[in-house]
Amino acid sequence: MDNRKELIIKAAEKHRQLTFDAERYIWKHPQTGYTEWLANEYLIERFETLGYELIRADRDPGYGKIPGFYTDIKTGRPGPTLCIMGELDALDIANHPESVNGMCHSCGHNAQAATVLGIAAALKEPGMLDGLSGTIRLMLVPAEEMIQLAFRNDLIKQGTVSYMGGKVEFMHRGYFDGVDLAMMVHQSSGGDRYDFVCGRGNNGCMAKTITYKGKSSHAGGAPHLGINAQYAATLGIQACNDLRETLQEKDHIRFHPILKGANCAVNIIPDEMVIESYVRGRTIEAMKRENVKFNRALAGAAAAIGCRLHINDKPGYSPEIEDGMFMELVEDVCRDLVGEDRVNFEYDSYSTGSSDFGDITCVMPGVQFSTNGATGTMHGIDLYLSDPERLCMNAVKAQLLVADRLLKDGAEKAKEIVAQYKPRYASIKDFFEDIKAFDMDQEAVLYGEDGSITLRFTK
Ligand SMILES: [Zn+2]
Ligand SMILES: [Zn+2]
Repeated sequence: MDNRKELIIKAAEKHRQLTFDAERYIWKHPQTGYTEWLANEYLIERFETLGYELIRADRDPGYGKIPGFYTDIKTGRPGPTLCIMGELDALDIANHPESVNGMCHSCGHNAQAATVLGIAAALKEPGMLDGLSGTIRLMLVPAEEMIQLAFRNDLIKQGTVSYMGGKVEFMHRGYFDGVDLAMMVHQSSGGDRYDFVCGRGNNGCMAKTITYKGKSSHAGGAPHLGINAQYAATLGIQACNDLRETLQEKDHIRFHPILKGANCAVNIIPDEMVIESYVRGRTIEAMKRENVKFNRALAGAAAAIGCRLHINDKPGYSPEIEDGMFMELVEDVCRDLVGEDRVNFEYDSYSTGSSDFGDITCVMPGVQFSTNGATGTMHGIDLYLSDPERLCMNAVKAQLLVADRLLKDGAEKAKEIVAQYKPRYASIKDFFEDIKAFDMDQEAVLYGEDGSITLRFTK
């Protein structure tokens, strides 16, 4: 092992207990997006004890208070800024045996957050920044999971945030200004064969809140006086399902609605039914195109039943594309760390999931890769962290080693990756202009006094 690698691994190992303790604490205190105050407080205290000065998202004048923060570690030599981030939020998954107040870290963000603390501690060890140029920005971001759409829409209305996703919100606030490249490690429950895995990217997504409004009445005695919003909603979902064969495989479109439940008793015709859904896809263009078809189907179903319909569409996350050259560097580091046969990087494989890391990859080169060490189903009630050594310590070591490779020798490799990267948008500002296309909040079916019906399923 060369001296540099040995120094970095020793620095990571020295703080293993700090990393493991953080992982357990955050697992036991799960909170969903934009409410992750306990994890936030825990990490802030430890970052400050390590001597870091933090830019806190709850103390930013001009913006609403949300969890999350970042700190810049300057090497003292000019060069690019590398952002390493971890996510804070849990999922609403009340049936998980270890859920707390209905929430659990069934996506493993507790491990990511702990990993970034481990990196922060290791970077304080003597010699860690020797020979490096540029800046390392360590960032803890809230709200990766795009859930609780009603709550998030309220936060947007109140002006607390402008976007559903934490990284997009952080971009909007300028916390990525001056960042040249970004990386993060997610957890995977992919078994024992590999320690590190990575695909080429993820679907993008947009968020839909679909509200059918009918009229309540006695379900037995006077159903003829009611308008059944539940039937309109299920008919709308059926119409969307019947469109599935018109979707093209290349676009990877996913539409997965959930009914939020009737707010009435069994002997009442339901007067309101809310559906939340995403439309996911490989490209923004495909998502825009297919979303119009889904909205048309949803509106047609409302008209068929004589129901009102309100559609609230919001931008979600952009398609994620890992930078090829950056990915090769990460793969090389991972192979060197755990052995070639323990690493599986697939350069042509795309997931139909989504992450707001996609928004980051629209404007700078980025890689999100995964460490194994969990068992069960991602987003499932059987998901547990089983091997913190593989899950957390591999992530700490690999990211430290990648940062070292990127920023050594005048940050030559980081500069090379930045130079060859082709952004999907010329600037973060252009990116925000484009995703505005998904913003729609309107009545989608208008009933005229003359009996005419107008469907308004586009902006
Ligand atoms: Zn996740
Ligand atoms: Zn997730």
